Amino acid sequence: MSTWHEYVQKAGKVPEWPYPVNYGKVNEVVTDVLIIGGGVAGLQAAINAKKKGVKVAVAERGHAKRSGAGGAGVDHWHGAVTNPCSRVTPQMYTDACYDSMQGYTGGHVRYIITKEGWDTLQECEQMGIQIRDVNDEFKGAVFRDDETKLMFAYDYRSRHVIRVWGYDIKPKLYAEAKRVGVDIYNRMMPTCLLTEGGKQGGRVVGATAVNTRTGEFYVFRSRATVIATGGAGRLYDFAPEVTASSSMGTMNAAGVGEAIAWNAGAEFVCMEGSGPARLAGYAYAPYSMANAHNTYHGTPIVDADGKEVPWVDGFNRPIKTVQERFQPSEGQDFMLGEGIGISRYLERYRNNLLTSDLPERIRKGEFKLPLYADLTRLSEAERRCIWSMMVGNEGKTRIPIYDTMSRAGFDPDKDLFQAPVTAPQGYDHPNFWSTGVNTPPSLRMLGGGGFLVDWNLRTNLEGLYIGAGGNLFGGGCHGESHTTGRYAGRHAAEYAKTAPEPAADRNQIEAEKARAYNATKQSKDGNGWKEINVAIARIMRDYCGECKNEQTLNLGLRLLSELQTTELESAYASNPHELGRLLECHSVITVGELIMKTAVGRKASNSILGFNRLDYPQMDPPEWNKLLPIKQVDGKVEVRDLPLDFHLKAPYAASYEENYQKYSGA
Ligand SMILES: Cc1cc2nc3c(=O)[nH]c(=O)nc-3n(C[C@H](O)[C@H](O)[C@H](O)COP(=O)(O)OP(=O)(O)OC[C@H]3O[C@@H](n4cnc5c(N)ncnc54)[C@H](O)[C@@H]3O)c2cc1C
Repeated sequence: MSTWHEYVQKAGKVPEWPYPVNYGKVNEVVTDVLIIGGGVAGLQAAINAKKKGVKVAVAERGHAKRSGAGGAGVDHWHGAVTNPCSRVTPQMYTDACYDSMQGYTGGHVRYIITKEGWDTLQECEQMGIQIRDVNDEFKGAVFRDDETKLMFAYDYRSRHVIRVWGYDIKPKLYAEAKRVGVDIYNRMMPTCLLTEGGKQGGRVVGATAVNTRTGEFYVFRSRATVIATGGAGRLYDFAPEVTASSSMGTMNAAGVGEAIAWNAGAEFVCMEGSGPARLAGYAYAPYSMANAHNTYHGTPIVDADGKEVPWVDGFNRPIKTVQERFQPSEGQDFMLGEGIGISRYLERYRNNLLTSDLPERIRKGEFKLPLYADLTRLSEAERRCIWSMMVGNEGKTRIPIYDTMSRAGFDPDKDLFQAPVTAPQGYDHPNFWSTGVNTPPSLRMLGGGGFLVDWNLRTNLEGLYIGAGGNLFGGGCHGESHTTGRYAGRHAAEYAKTAPEPAADRNQIEAEKARAYNATKQSKDGNGWKEINVAIARIMRDYCGECKNEQTLNLGLRLLSELQTTELESAYASNPHELGRLLECHSVITVGELIMKTAVGRKASNSILGFNRLDYPQMDPPEWNKLLPIKQVDGKVEVRDLPLDFHLKAPYAASYEENYQKYSGA
């Protein structure tokens, strides 16, 4: 085993492409359920479809053992409200999310998640994932229930967010998927969804893909299909050499699931929503600097002179003790916790946080930079829990942060941990490492929009289901993704059992095959995928940024279209990896277009969606208080109006529980 430099010095050249390349060779896979994306949602969908006795295939862009946002680990699981210690019900949690977002989140998806999140977590436990303090390391701690040995985060009274030892959750899921007999196809770059008769809006009967190692072409024919490809990154920012695109998320999150579904006629909602990019990667490696948020919730922050920054409750009232940071205050039934895919919190569900006037007080000289995390001010159990248990299991922290710092001699019993030094406004949110301040201010990230689904987690297209966190309207984070994946897989399998044979359209397959290999046939002078992606991100930032109007959006649409038909059309791929990345660029453009077209349709500004129309500056006019689902019919965009509470209106029943009983199949 040698390093890269040793290899290049010895060989005198970079290595040859190491796999045999067979562009155009066709492989056919016939299955009952096809899952596109083998992340945590996708593998749960696969395992649960398989349990229904059908044949299941997963087409994964990377390698399903560690791929995806959830592949690097997890330290806390949201939405497990039916666990035996919880004081929160599915109805309470769903109402809290829905009311906080003033209706701009899918209440039905939230309800499904909270009904089944705890069951899903217990199934993970059966797969060998540690969800309890089985070794009694934290016996007697205030955040632990000594009977069940469950440990809780954020709100120790309400006990609905569970701390988990999830650094190996993905390999365990992968092993389970293999054990139950799921067929996993890694390194697949999907190019389209196949529809009956090749028609937009038709029943989905599979997908085509290119293998990004061999270049071979795959035709998947399936009775039912689940999309579980995770988020859509690389849209507003792309600078992989400074880790901008991948420090928090994954490079493979290129919106391909959304793009191929949009082209097939699937309906989306709230894609116009966005917010400042906090996790873009121009900031710091995830969780690598001191902060008091998420994994580090409750951590005391002190200034350069050791003066502690005060905390406030959800109503902005001062909090005196460390213990109170983990308790709901007067007027609150419970606190929701952070990282659940909502951007607004009503005060009565908001978390305790560092005081919001910290930037102002730094400016006045009351607190002196740099700031530090002082874990010594916590109880011994709390300190050990945050530093070793949480940081040791959270995604991307076990080796780069916990292990590296421990080996370098960091001792939380006596050392301070420095926060990033930024302009004072960088401290307006306690997640300092993801601060928007050292990030270009024009960067945006999508905010809560995604696939519109019914109570079966089915899209408007027959045969197409969604399992996801971020890109499912009403989804959330890690636990939510497992849970919706599990539910979608179950429903896809039930449908597949009675669905007709999947007949793919030959013309659609041939057209797709020709399109897929276009970049291998272009002049070697053509652009590469990185240049194209940078250009897309520039167009998105300039024409569909924080503020936009009809003209900028239409110009942006024109530029994206021209980029696609000129530079991207003539771009060159010298191997199957580059081919995959260029095909992704088509999808990134498609998602950009989808966002701009949705934005054109909302002729009003909207505070919840972070949507600012310069030509319609009035914020939240009541007549625009509605969803605007968007889809393509025969290549033309169709937008309709939908009430925010559509999930409790005909044809559905008026209560969450009635609908759940009717549709869940549990
Ligand atoms: C560092 C980090 C820490 C986090 N910590 C927490 C936490 O503690 N608690 C919490 O609740 N949430 C946490 N999250 C969020 C959580 O990980 C995600 O919400 C969750 O993983 C989403 O699940 P998913 O299956 O929808 O997407 P992913 O886990 O991203 O999986 C998507 C899968 O689809 C694949 N894919 C992508 N494109 C394609 C394509 N074109 N074709 C085929 N396959 C494709 C990907 O390779 C991947 O395997 C964290 C995220 C990160 C990045």
